[in-house]
Amino acid sequence: DLLVVGSANADLVIGVDRRPAAGETVLGTDLAVHPGGKGANQAVAAARLGARTALLAKVGDDDHGRLLLDSQRAAGVDTVGVLVDDAPTGVALITVDPSGDNSIVVSPGANGRLAPADVRAATSLFHASRVVSVMLEIPLETVAEVVRSLAPGSRLVLNPSPPRALPREVLDACDPLIVNEHEAKVLLGPSRVGDRPEDWAGILLAKGPRSVVVTLGADGALVASKDGVARVPSVAVDAVDTTGAGDAFTAALAYRLGAGASLAEAAAYAARVGAAAVTKAGAQESYPTAEEVEAL
Ligand code: ADP
Repeated sequence: DLLVVGSANADLVIGVDRRPAAGETVLGTDLAVHPGGKGANQAVAAARLGARTALLAKVGDDDHGRLLLDSQRAAGVDTVGVLVDDAPTGVALITVDPSGDNSIVVSPGANGRLAPADVRAATSLFHASRVVSVMLEIPLETVAEVVRSLAPGSRLVLNPSPPRALPREVLDACDPLIVNEHEAKVLLGPSRVGDRPEDWAGILLAKGPRSVVVTLGADGALVASKDGVARVPSVAVDAVDTTGAGDAFTAALAYRLGAGASLAEAAAYAARVGAAAVTKAGAQESYPTAEEVEAL
């Protein structure tokens, strides 16, 4: 089984002709409210593919929290670990301009209250999981507690988003560490930006993780381990909306690793899932079923 430990946000999206400057007001489209957050997205993506999936997360006792619980349940995710807190549900305020560029403000809300004690209280979820996927939209001390709570023989997948420096204890446990180009550049520092993605993967691997995956959008991905660096081909599709593609990729990779696939096999499958996810608008709404991945 797969356990996702991470964030759940309501995405509040308004289309604008242009973003307001300081002190200015602009009019936009009707408000659209979508279930989002990297943890919630990953759990839905894995469950839609057929993975037995549980989510450990925190939401508020409010309409956004209920929207998130409903979307998890509709996808078949086990929500026993979705805790309800006094703080409001996390929110991402998103404006999108006509060229598709977005500006986002995140209020972590209840995500910021997901505590190490909540991880310790979820022992049964950890014991039922061969793979645990985690990201950084929750407190870093909670991520570190996840590392300490892994059941013997189970595997940690980490997407360091939003990117920040990681303690060695967390880096060493990643198998793999999954980064997109932006996250890779932040973790590597400015001196490495000119290097090729193959070099990034090798340098990141030397920082401690057992394996590294670098996602490269329409160019597919790279996998790196002690066996070397290999390219994972992308699938050519007409991209409509890349929102949430990385979350779909990570979820699919974690699911296939839990089913016994090699890292290269799991990444090839994940690239197909990521490609399918960019052919439809939205994040969770765009995630494919196993049949849709097969048909690609
Ligand atoms: P993120 O969403 O985190 O920025 P990427 O853009 O690298 O991550 O996308 C994750 C994965 O989704 C890629 O590795 C690739 O497999 C797939 N993907 C993303 N964009 C495209 C695209 N335009 N065409 C085909 N596959 C894509």
